[in-house]
Amino acid sequence: MSTIEQITEHILIMHASHDTDRPILAAITGERKTLLIDAGNSPAHAALFRQELQRLGVRLPDLLILTHWHWDHTFGMSEWDLPTIAQAKTAHSLSKLMGLNWSDEVMEQLCTEKIINASTMAHIKKEYGMNRDLIRIVDPDILFDESITIDLGGVTCQVNLVGGDHSEDSCYVYVKEDQTLFLGDALGPSVYGGPRSYTASRFLRVLKQAYQSEAILFVESHGRPLDRAAFQRELRDWEQLALLTEQYGQNREQIVSAMCTFLQVSELPHEFSEALEWFMVGAAYQ
Ligand SMILES: [Zn+2]
Repeated sequence: MSTIEQITEHILIMHASHDTDRPILAAITGERKTLLIDAGNSPAHAALFRQELQRLGVRLPDLLILTHWHWDHTFGMSEWDLPTIAQAKTAHSLSKLMGLNWSDEVMEQLCTEKIINASTMAHIKKEYGMNRDLIRIVDPDILFDESITIDLGGVTCQVNLVGGDHSEDSCYVYVKEDQTLFLGDALGPSVYGGPRSYTASRFLRVLKQAYQSEAILFVESHGRPLDRAAFQRELRDWEQLALLTEQYGQNREQIVSAMCTFLQVSELPHEFSEALEWFMVGAAYQ
């Protein structure tokens, strides 16, 4: 199956690949301009998407928007060399990584400082091999705080800072005419700065913002595009887990029991027992 897919009239995506944690990249094409959502995790990832756009005769990107600063969304920037729009905190986080050589020693130090984690280090090693000198961090050009609207000619992209556990600079990109919402990784747990964690209130707020949009298609960076019904089905159980964490705090047993009742199972499936631990970390922080 091709990894390239036209998902709506104006949107073409290259699917995520979990091998080296490559997220979805998207090209939104209006009458005047094409907007690229996220740069890719490496120059090779970026070049692959550009080749596919060229092959399909799609107008190449004129502008780049970043959903958040994490390496897998930004390390392809140097290959695109495009005017780049980013939330101010995204730019700030990237500036702190500038000039590093990404040797094993430097990455281990970044892990110790909890700026990245062991899984990121493994993925970077796998994506780049010995060619980590190819990693060149680039400053974004246009910064915003809360929101920005990008007019591509007949296609409007509304970008909003939503934050959340995963990364405080996380933004949603809503393509209005195509009723498609790009969520980045905003619904994910925090992955840096300590053990993985979810804060029930933050998760519920970010999820509510997704539901409040008029989107009929939802695109998470490391998932598959889902229509509204499928998205709600997929998120329903996670929402319940967050609600139970709000209700019972750190009372793990009560949450497990109520969640099993909700799911109509006798034992909590692995994905939820794992996520419950992340919620417990979040509850302990509060
Ligand atoms: Zn991320």
